[in-house]
Amino acid sequence: MDIQQSRQSDEADLQRAYVHLAEAQRLSHTGSFTWDFDRGELLWSEELCRIFEFDPATTVTTDRVGQYVHPDDLPAFAAVLEGAAAGRDIDFPYRIITASGVLKHLHAVGHRIEHDADRPVIIGAVQDVTERRVAEEALSRARAELAHVARVATLSALTASIAHEVNQPLTSLVTNASTCLRMLAADPPNLELAHTTAQRTIRDANRASDVIARLRAMFVRKDGAVEAVDVNGAAAEVLALSSSELQRTQVDLRSDFASDLPNIRGDRIQLQQVVLNLVLNARDAMLAVDKRPRTLKVSTKVDDTGQVLLSVRDAGSGIAPDRLDRLFDTFFTTKSEGMGVGLSISRSIIQSHGGRLWAANNADGLGATFSFSIPLAGADGEGTHDD
Ligand code: ADP
Repeated sequence: MDIQQSRQSDEADLQRAYVHLAEAQRLSHTGSFTWDFDRGELLWSEELCRIFEFDPATTVTTDRVGQYVHPDDLPAFAAVLEGAAAGRDIDFPYRIITASGVLKHLHAVGHRIEHDADRPVIIGAVQDVTERRVAEEALSRARAELAHVARVATLSALTASIAHEVNQPLTSLVTNASTCLRMLAADPPNLELAHTTAQRTIRDANRASDVIARLRAMFVRKDGAVEAVDVNGAAAEVLALSSSELQRTQVDLRSDFASDLPNIRGDRIQLQQVVLNLVLNARDAMLAVDKRPRTLKVSTKVDDTGQVLLSVRDAGSGIAPDRLDRLFDTFFTTKSEGMGVGLSISRSIIQSHGGRLWAANNADGLGATFSFSIPLAGADGEGTHDD
């Protein structure tokens, strides 16, 4: 082969490699770039231009790229440029809005290599992750939807008990209001008793409206509201809502709440949903128990590692060892009317708070205890006490 032929074959190889690379970039929605700071040169692959809807013939500058970065991501974009110039690696998820108005989720990675004569050059890749991100968002919406449906379904099981909860103060309110009227109509009017019964009327009305407010909070969907949560208070509200139902099924409810429990950060309603699931499961597990008291104990404490721990202990059927792992699988149920989603949703709620939810049979062989622990740093990784 003479030199001429050899060069032609090298060029053909190079051309093939280039076509393969361009095809691989297109298939994986990944573009590449090199960035020479000193010369202010930014070289983009065809795929990267396609992602940004740039004409490959035009000159790309960081300013021009910045014009398409989503306004909310601009400060982070500026920080990444600054970091890259200072020699730091790039690992940056961000969004752009292209000239035709399309929102895209991108992920850029890059690192610095020393080029000719110590001239630093950044070499990197940008992947269009829009499809994956959209699928993730749809999945998380579907999960939230399912959690909401499960919550409403669980609360529906409490309807009779809740109606009783609202009815009690209403009945008492009507009695007190009529007594008050009678005291005022008496001759002479008994103002002192009228005053007392009027006060009782107000107290009863407040009790009824408290129950409704609690219910409304749990039924109405509120997504991702992260706040300081007093786990004792949140659990006490759930117990108040379910207490008539527990009484109806002869469950002896006890609670042992640590008085020095620090707040965690999280979604109060979601955590209440977990407690409600655990309490109603404990009740279900004791329905068949007749020969011993149906004792249900809800306790809270700070555990050895400083996390907030809540446990629900029952004296029910206990859990067969081969089921211990499967309880948390979605759609695993042993109940004829069960949906089998309560524990799996509860576990994902606790995990989204950075915590753990687990089950164990009681040491005395009677019943099981479900517990969760949540680190004080909580869902958004900051603060502990009430703020
Ligand atoms: P469901 O209550 O609709 O069955 P869950 O996901 O809440 O769905 O519970 C799944 C299964 O875990 C239940 O069907 C039951 O077999 C078991 N389980 C849950 N809590 C307890 C408990 N306290 N004691 C014994 N088994 C339990």
